[in-house]
Amino acid sequence: MKPDQYVVIGNPISHSKSPAIHARFAELAAQQLDYQGLLAPLDGFAKTVHDFVVAGGKGANVTLPFKLEAFALATELSERARIAGAVNTLKFESGRMYGDNTDGIGLVADIVRNAGVSLRGKRVLLLGAGGAARGALLPLLQEQPATLTIANRTLTKAQDLLEQAKSLSTSCDLQAYCFADLQQPFDVIINATSASISDEVPPLADTVFCKTTLAYDMMYAAAPTAFLRLAASQGALCRDGLGMLVEQAAEAFALWRGVRPPSAQVLTEMRAALQASQE
Ligand code: NDP
Repeated sequence: MKPDQYVVIGNPISHSKSPAIHARFAELAAQQLDYQGLLAPLDGFAKTVHDFVVAGGKGANVTLPFKLEAFALATELSERARIAGAVNTLKFESGRMYGDNTDGIGLVADIVRNAGVSLRGKRVLLLGAGGAARGALLPLLQEQPATLTIANRTLTKAQDLLEQAKSLSTSCDLQAYCFADLQQPFDVIINATSASISDEVPPLADTVFCKTTLAYDMMYAAAPTAFLRLAASQGALCRDGLGMLVEQAAEAFALWRGVRPPSAQVLTEMRAALQASQE
């Protein structure tokens, strides 16, 4: 019998690590499935999804630039997808198209489970107010930090996200700032800006870091990003977004298959492969 078919849809797509991650999950969890990268034309996301569903596809991950279109296309949404306004996971079942957003829950799983850093009662700084920051908002608040500060280059976007956060939590102390006004230290700083892609770092005062700060960059690369280099120079603990990538994939896999894959093992293997690629 043909195995169940899954894809990650994006443009471009050839760089995606998702096919390798899901193939390894399937192997370790003894699941029969096929998972491929699928390039959609920039103006053809809905048709690409439709054709895949007609061909019997069971589910899809969605990556840049289609997360907003996937949100619009889904016929049902999880609460976290509704709040994020973006979908990275689709499940096709009995004519339904269920949309979820596993990015934020993957981030929290990597910080709490893999790094062993609790967010409860902590002072958390979220840098950025784009799609990744929106996806992280609800899962972060569900961990009950003492404070959540949102800082963004464009202050009005941080303020919009702050209003959304206020509607989700009454117990957390919530603030929005521009980068230059941040002076106080934080326990956890999450870089959800795309500055790292161009090896830039938001203009942060040294005083936001202390020796016990966890500095987390959602981006990952073989070498530390500019943000992580800055954090390390201030003595902070550093972690990149490879674990977030693996954990968001694990959440999607669990949604589709009803089985939780051994994500920590796959993360260890992916880390080794990333380091080997640098040597
Ligand atoms: P968006 O384009 O939606 O948002 C980009 C954000 O970065 C905005 O807040 C923008 O500010 C800010 N920004 C861009 N350039 C700079 C700069 N030079 N200095 C300061 N701020 C800047 O991107 P996403 O939210 O989708 O992605 C953000 C990051 O998260 C990317 O690095 C991406 O790779 C990573 N990511 C990682 C995932 C993982 O699994 N590890 C999953 C999803 C995302 P402004 O509003 O002012 O334009």
